[in-house]
Amino acid sequence: MAFSKSNMYRFPWSANDNPIGWLEVTDKCNIYCRGCYRMNGKAGHKTLKQIKEEIDLLHKMRNPDNISIAGGEPLLHPEIVEIVRYIRSKGMKPMLLTNGVELIDNRKLIEDLKAAGLIGFTFHVDSEQQRPHFKGQTEEELCDLRLKFAKMVAEVGGLTAVFGMTIYPTNIHKVPYVVKWANENIDVVHGLVFITFRGAPMDGRYNYFVNGQPIDNAEVTYTTEDDAEITITSQDVYEKIKEVHPHYEPAAYLGGTQTHTRATWVSAVQIGSKKKMYGSLGKKLMEFVQNFHHMTNGTYLIYQKSNKLTKLAFAGTLIDKGMRGVHGKFWKHLITDPSMLFNQLYYQSIGIVQGPDMLEDGRMDMCESCPDMTVWDGKLVHSCRMDEWRLYGGYVDAHRNPEFVPKSEPVIATENIPVAH
Ligand code: SF4
Repeated sequence: MAFSKSNMYRFPWSANDNPIGWLEVTDKCNIYCRGCYRMNGKAGHKTLKQIKEEIDLLHKMRNPDNISIAGGEPLLHPEIVEIVRYIRSKGMKPMLLTNGVELIDNRKLIEDLKAAGLIGFTFHVDSEQQRPHFKGQTEEELCDLRLKFAKMVAEVGGLTAVFGMTIYPTNIHKVPYVVKWANENIDVVHGLVFITFRGAPMDGRYNYFVNGQPIDNAEVTYTTEDDAEITITSQDVYEKIKEVHPHYEPAAYLGGTQTHTRATWVSAVQIGSKKKMYGSLGKKLMEFVQNFHHMTNGTYLIYQKSNKLTKLAFAGTLIDKGMRGVHGKFWKHLITDPSMLFNQLYYQSIGIVQGPDMLEDGRMDMCESCPDMTVWDGKLVHSCRMDEWRLYGGYVDAHRNPEFVPKSEPVIATENIPVAH
């Protein structure tokens, strides 16, 4: 069972018209995550002046609907509330990407962030983190922590709560459990994002260079000795989600910058109630929503505060096959359970991000129209590779180690290549 790009809408995002602006306010963090792209505490907190300049640059260069405030752990920044307020004052939606540690038993901070204009949180929780009191816990056990965060956010109200999980060989088999947990808590869990772990292979097959000079690549955090760790694809995660939710289907995607086969960002919107999931929005409605938002607001759409859906959404059946499936299943459920007429419907997003892939020849296949470009030294760079700029002043190139290149005969013998005289 494979997803097909022809059944999905390709997001129309580009480098200069993209719903996301990625802002990093600090590189300090209070926990350790195996999949983190950032060296902890190399530069510390940015000044408010520098952060405001970066927000202004993102606003100007990206036309973003949202600013994702990341790090490091952004809640460690002493002026985080002011940063949120500044983003909101510029007409953009501030969204915080956090491990949540600073929010535990701290309702006041959630309220202050909301009052400053925050739209919500993406909580990064997975079993390869080293977080106090939860080290060594399984993905199932961590769902208790996820639910605690979701309820904390719901109690304050008017904020979205999305959950990110990095996918490794050690936890991919837990994806169905986490999706089922999210479906059962659809009233407080607005979305999931599965991010496949990526790193540079350090098994000797590649030599690494910056501007033609060899480098010791062991300094960046994203390296691996084990190829199996970095070959999980969006397709693998899709198949895991289908195990628990057969009606799940993605509606949109982004491809790769080098290959036409990869789907680097795969986006689905499921529709359901606390009692049952009915299916997924299809590509036509996704296209309509993206373009309608751009026409009316001037930006493409990525996050909203609420995931409540009125039954008016069924008007989407006129144009969208996915919505027709949802509609049919809802009415079947209504016949057996008439209370559903008064029960709330919700949508829940499921994103899969398949980060950069190093191709056999050493080329980097990045996410097309990279939504997570951030500011480094006054210019935009891929946030997943910003530490290459911080450490070496440029992107790292991988070259195949000649010892590992298989010997092959040239396809055309040299003497047969015509030479112009
Ligand atoms: S290429 Fe962009 S979107 Fe893809 S993983 Fe890197 S930063 Fe994220």
